[in-house]
Amino acid sequence: MQTTAFVEDWLCYDTTLGEGAYGEVKLLIHKKTEEKIACKIINHRKYKNASSNINREVTIHKMLDHENIIKYYGRRQEPLKEYIFLEYAAGGELFQQIEPDTGMPSGMAQTFMKQLLFGLSYLHSKGIAHRDIKPENLLIDSDGNLKISDFGLATLFRFKGKERLLDKKCGTKPYLAPEVLLRPYRAQPADIWSCGIVFVTMLTGELPWSEPGEKNKEFMKWKTDMYLSETPWSKLGNTALSLARQILNVDDKKRLTITQIENHPWMRFNFGSDKVSDQVDGTSENLAKRWNSMVESETRHNRETPTVTLSQPTISNTRLSIMQAVDCLRNTTKNQLCFSQPTHNDDLMLQFTESPVTRDNFHNMVKRMTRFYVKTNFEKSLESLCSALDSLHYTWNAAFKGAVSVTTVDEHKNPLTFKANIYDMDGKILLDFRLSKGCGLEFKKKFLKIKKYLEDIIGDCSDL
Ligand code: ATP
Ligand code: MG
Repeated sequence: MQTTAFVEDWLCYDTTLGEGAYGEVKLLIHKKTEEKIACKIINHRKYKNASSNINREVTIHKMLDHENIIKYYGRRQEPLKEYIFLEYAAGGELFQQIEPDTGMPSGMAQTFMKQLLFGLSYLHSKGIAHRDIKPENLLIDSDGNLKISDFGLATLFRFKGKERLLDKKCGTKPYLAPEVLLRPYRAQPADIWSCGIVFVTMLTGELPWSEPGEKNKEFMKWKTDMYLSETPWSKLGNTALSLARQILNVDDKKRLTITQIENHPWMRFNFGSDKVSDQVDGTSENLAKRWNSMVESETRHNRETPTVTLSQPTISNTRLSIMQAVDCLRNTTKNQLCFSQPTHNDDLMLQFTESPVTRDNFHNMVKRMTRFYVKTNFEKSLESLCSALDSLHYTWNAAFKGAVSVTTVDEHKNPLTFKANIYDMDGKILLDFRLSKGCGLEFKKKFLKIKKYLEDIIGDCSDL
């Protein structure tokens, strides 16, 4: 792992925290104070229409100051690039805490739900609708607190006490309220619906439907009350199901308000006193074990992901291609500089530093569950990874920014792209997987499949 000196006294970590619509999100760390911030980089050369969207996002984000909302610190504009500085969430995205098909312990889901509603009610009190509430946009800080992030689709629905209906069909399909497809719609109930989907997903590890439209079988069953024996509903206890029914009420006028949700018996139930911060570090297995006694419903359901056959990439399959990939990874990692030269004197970029980040400080900074150590060396690890990807029929290539980029489709045939980075951490090889585009939950399912394939080479992951 390497760092690049950014503006004075700030180092930029080579590792990418996430990918946004207009570029990457990187971690910056202050050399002296060790303060960490996230930096969203917008590439104006590549995305010509980014400006107006980014301006709107920043205008809205700047107005917000709440413990459950990622803080906006500032921006820096250059002709071709722009940097937005944000509070850093070390715990990654909420979906990382959701075990596919299982979910998470009820007490943990309740804590996250309370924090989500607290943040959302503040947002609504400012007259702002988020419009893209989903586990990928809910980040977790180092203390295990949930923070609403990504105001790219947010909009003002109330101004000087006067509310307006919204007309833009936007958001992420599985989380959309049904009225958003029909338009116009009221802002607050639409955001609350998305919280309802997050709620079901946290408790069951499943999305109930791919979109809330007339053509969708699962959604129509829900609408006509023909759903009870089916998942995800059959995995919920009675109290949780009652809450889900009242949040996911197709009639937006009968849908619960935030205060009503907060007063629902499930939200007021005492699931135990464990702090979420204790769980964020742990593996999902440990986490589930610790919370086991408090889980309301333990029903498990295994849904097989159909094997997807896509056209084979030209680079995979042969041994030669793996050797090329190794070379390519090596070179890009060594020479990669992630920022262009800044123009201002007081923002001078210092020279490139070679100082490696140790295992310890890396893990303290970036906590994720989609990674593991392997016992093999760099070349062998890459080879095993690539043959696992081939066996699973995923399309991959190793030519992109020092990572193996994987492209496939999810259960609902939606595109899914993720990256696997191979890091040499003080001689121990770490495979770190990161979602680029698509559904977080589906990404996690694929991660588990790859992990199963590589079972034989997985090493000691106790310090992850
Ligand atoms: P998209 O439209 O794909 O959601 P976006 O341009 O709106 O992308 P964000 O959602 O803000 O971008 O960021 C992309 C990803 O980067 C997040 O899902 C998250 O993994 C990571 N990320 C963003 N902000 C932070 C932060 N403050 N701390 C840690 N990670 C972050
Ligand atoms: Mg996002």
